[in-house]
Amino acid sequence: MSAPLIASLRDNSAIRDTSRVMTICNACRYCEGFCPVFPAMTQFRTFDAPAADYLANLCHNCMACYHACQYKPPHEFDVNLPGTLADTRADSYQAYAWPGSLAGLFHKNGLVVSLSVALALAAVISLTVLLVDAEVLWQTQTGAGAFYRIIPHALMVLVAGSITIAAGAALLISLMRFSRAVGLRAAELFSPRVICRALSDVFTLRHLGGGHGDGCNTGDASFSNQRRYFHHFTMWGFLLCFAATCVATLYEYGLGRMSPFPWTSLPVLLGSSGGLGLLIGTSGLFVLKLKTDPDATAPHRLGMDYALLILLFSISLTGFALLFWRDTPAMGILLAVHLGFVLAFFLTLPYSKFVHGFYRLLALAKYAAAKE
Ligand code: SF4
Ligand code: SF4
Repeated sequence: MSAPLIASLRDNSAIRDTSRVMTICNACRYCEGFCPVFPAMTQFRTFDAPAADYLANLCHNCMACYHACQYKPPHEFDVNLPGTLADTRADSYQAYAWPGSLAGLFHKNGLVVSLSVALALAAVISLTVLLVDAEVLWQTQTGAGAFYRIIPHALMVLVAGSITIAAGAALLISLMRFSRAVGLRAAELFSPRVICRALSDVFTLRHLGGGHGDGCNTGDASFSNQRRYFHHFTMWGFLLCFAATCVATLYEYGLGRMSPFPWTSLPVLLGSSGGLGLLIGTSGLFVLKLKTDPDATAPHRLGMDYALLILLFSISLTGFALLFWRDTPAMGILLAVHLGFVLAFFLTLPYSKFVHGFYRLLALAKYAAAKE
C-alpha cells in the first residue's frame, strides 16, 4: 500500500482530535509566534492525516501553547495541543513504519523495547558463557584484540553489519513514506538552503527555546532551558559515540590497529565524551519527564520516551564499566552486557522513539521549503 493511500485511509481518534483542535487554533491564532506549527497551520483549511502528521512532527512539545491557552480544560473546547500532537506524532511513526507488519511494535512501545533488551541481554550473555572457554572468559585479557578473544571479530562484524543495514533500510523507507505523504519532494529536501535551514534548526534545537529563547514549560507556566540543554547533551553525546565507532573502524581497517585502544586514543576520547553527554542528557530528560504536567501530555505514549532514555543511559553506563574494568577478569562479561544493550538498541532502532529526530528534520525541511 502506498504512503499517501495509508495516510488517506487513516481515521482514528488522534487524527480526528488534531483536526478538531487545529481548526480551533486556526480561528484563534493567539499562539502564532510560539513555534512553526502555527504559521504552518495557516496553509491548511482542513486537517487530514498527512497535514496532522506534518504539524505533529513540527511540534517540539515545548508546552508553551498549553499554558497560554484560554481554551484548555476545564473549558468546554478542551484544547490540549501538545498532548494531541504527541498522540498523533507517535501514531505517525506507526503509520509509516516499514515493513507494515512490524508497525505494531510502536504500540505499547515501552514494553516492546524492554522485552527486546531482556531478550538481547539473555541471548548475548548466555551464548558468551556457553560458547567461550571458561579459561578465556574469566581470565584477564589485555592487549590488541583482547575483545575478540571473547567474541570473534568476524561474528561481531557479521551481526552488527547485518542488523545495522536492516535497521537503516527500514528507517529510510519509513522516512520516504512520510516525506511522500506530507508532500516533501526530493528536490526540495536536497535544496542547499532548505537542508541547511532544517539542519540548523535541529542542531541548535532552536524550537526548544519556546519561540522567545527562554525555553520550555515543564511542570508549570515558568520557562526553563533545561530541556534544551539536556537534549543537546543527548544528541551531541550520541553523535560523538557514533564518531568514535567510525574512527575505531578506520583504525582497525585502515591502520591495522586492533581495539581496545589506549585511554588517550581518539576513539576512546570521542566515545567517553559522548558517553558522558549521554549519561547527563538522558538522566536530565528522564527527571524532567517525571516533572511534566500529565494533563499536557499524551500519558499513554510516555513509555516509548522512557524506554529510549533508559536504553541510551544503559549503553553509556555499561560502556564506561567496560572501559574502567577492561584490564580485569570481569572484561568478558562486561563486554557481553554492553553488546547486549547495543544489540537491543539497533534491533529496535526503526521502531522506537529514536526515529523522532529524523521525522522532525523532515517536517522542518518541509516548513523551510514552504518559506522559500
Ligand atoms: S492553543 Fe489555544 S490559545 Fe493557542 S492558538 Fe490554539 S486555541 Fe488559541
Ligand atoms: S507545544 Fe510548543 S512546539 Fe508544540 S505546538 Fe505548542 S507551542 Fe508549538
